[in-house]
Amino acid sequence: MTPPAPPVTKRRVRGDGVDLAVYEQGDRSNPTLLLVHGYPDTHAVWDEVAGRLAGRFHVVRYDVRGAGASSRPFGSRRYTFDYLMSDMRAVLDATAPERKVHLVGHDWGSIQSWEAACTMPDRFASFTSISGPCLDHVAHWMRRNLARPTPANLRRAAGQAIRSWYIYFFQTPLLPELLWRAGMAGPFSKALQLGEGIPVRDGHPARTMARDAAAGVGLYRANMIRRLRRPRDRRTDVPTQVIVPTRDLFVSPHLVGGLAGRVPNLSLRPIAAGHWVPRSHPGVVARWIIEHVTGVQGGPLSAAESRALARARVGGNRRPFEGSLVVVTGAGSGIGRATALAFAERGAEVVAADLDLSTAQRTAELAGLLGPAGHAFQVDVADPTAMEDFAKSVLHDHGVPDVVVNNAGIGMAGAFLDHTADDWQKILDVNLWGVVHGSRLFAKQMVERGQGGHIVNTSSAAAFTPSRALPAYATSKAAVLMLSECLRAELKGQGIGVSAICPGIVNTNITRTSRFVGQGKDEEERSRQRVARAYARRGFGPDRVAERIVAAVRDDRPVVPVTPEARLSYLASRIAPGVMRRLARLDVG
Ligand code: NAD
Repeated sequence: MTPPAPPVTKRRVRGDGVDLAVYEQGDRSNPTLLLVHGYPDTHAVWDEVAGRLAGRFHVVRYDVRGAGASSRPFGSRRYTFDYLMSDMRAVLDATAPERKVHLVGHDWGSIQSWEAACTMPDRFASFTSISGPCLDHVAHWMRRNLARPTPANLRRAAGQAIRSWYIYFFQTPLLPELLWRAGMAGPFSKALQLGEGIPVRDGHPARTMARDAAAGVGLYRANMIRRLRRPRDRRTDVPTQVIVPTRDLFVSPHLVGGLAGRVPNLSLRPIAAGHWVPRSHPGVVARWIIEHVTGVQGGPLSAAESRALARARVGGNRRPFEGSLVVVTGAGSGIGRATALAFAERGAEVVAADLDLSTAQRTAELAGLLGPAGHAFQVDVADPTAMEDFAKSVLHDHGVPDVVVNNAGIGMAGAFLDHTADDWQKILDVNLWGVVHGSRLFAKQMVERGQGGHIVNTSSAAAFTPSRALPAYATSKAAVLMLSECLRAELKGQGIGVSAICPGIVNTNITRTSRFVGQGKDEEERSRQRVARAYARRGFGPDRVAERIVAAVRDDRPVVPVTPEARLSYLASRIAPGVMRRLARLDVG
């Protein structure tokens, strides 16, 4: 049972011409955390996070000027960064004199915390920014994108410009204040509930929201346009982690691009969440603050925590999957190996698992050369106990994976009446149960971690191409496809994507290991060689499937037929199933 959070004591601190309501929680002899709230919130937006941290930190919060129980100065001139910095200094002097504190900001609290981390770095031991960029960095980022107007850069710049619609609106004199006072607080709370799934609770949104929001418009008027037009050269050496909600409706996740040039000690923590992540994922936010602070202090971390922290650190040249942990089964050969290497090439740390340890080791070695690190595991995906142990080891040694590719599989061809019960058992154990175990065990870890993720299951074009030659194999792959669709529906709400990959004919070792049931040894060997030659002639390599797998994760695609014949079959199975049934009768064995 978690112990109850220590009580909160309230005091008043004199800021720059204002009275600030300051809230302290936890033992003062512990390291101090300063949590700064955004707009239109009060200190109470942090309740859940603060409650989780107050056992090991001295947690300080305050209502910024204009909000909650602090004074509301009149006129936007009183909301410039200069005033905000004086207020923050006053709070620090009163609550943590002569010591460096760990700063955490959300939304406008993060915007002003960037100003603090860049202009008074001596006061801070670390900084965690959530959904509130440095305005000067945003201005430089916009200019960089517009100076190189490639379609991607223009899309990113436009994406942020659209997300900032309310900033332009807040520049209108009086109207925003009138709207807030006329009752916009109610619809706002409803939108928060419907849009982000954040229920109204005591303290948030605050009862004072209409007044807070009307006064807080001053933050936008006093600072936004001025800084965006004439940005300063803001940099900081304070160890900084940026929590990046990838579904933020107001702040584009792309804004972190190029940040490493201005913040040398930078970690990024993407999370599949909306803007109010301290309310929607307080456990994750608290854990990341603890890890970041502990890492900065050089304190003890578990092996998995250290690795997660190391992955979050940003090098100079950021690659798309840098900071991600990717697990691939059947990674010793073919599509699995190519996928492991494709992720490694894009910056991911890779766990390569296979029945054959030596081939998994080779993949891990290559992944380590292309990316930050590769690790090999020997596991039989058909064995539930071995898979439990495997999932536990990954969790313990490396942390929760961000992407899991359940790819291990075997081939089996021949007439249905030639398949024995053992044949069925074998193929379903590997092709279906292997995917069930991998999805079940790792999805559970992803859900518990609460940061989203992605599961890729290798199905096949056989899943929607009936054939008298592949009854067991096609059945196993059809089941994988349906499992993936069901799982996708279930995990959507948790920010976990699920993709089924359906390759056609791909030149791999599968032809050399497939079973041809109902055939004697020699005949089976001849069949293998014949099919291997046909697959080689087809000439579609596993690296091209790997590219599609990476793209499926990036774009969160549900079903991905790979190769032209797979795409054609997929289409035909939907618009002309009768034709597919007729083709299924052909004897291609
Ligand atoms: P492959 O034989 O080259 O690689 C499969 C790997 O899985 C091998 O390294 C093998 O050791 C491993 N493996 C087999 N059984 C295992 C088990 N029980 N536990 C752990 N690892 C195991 O074949 P591939 O073509 O790369 O196949 C990968 C996946 O793609 C399979 O699921 C396959 O059904 C699917 N697929 C392949 C094709 C194709 O044309 N090659 C087409 C559609 C789908």
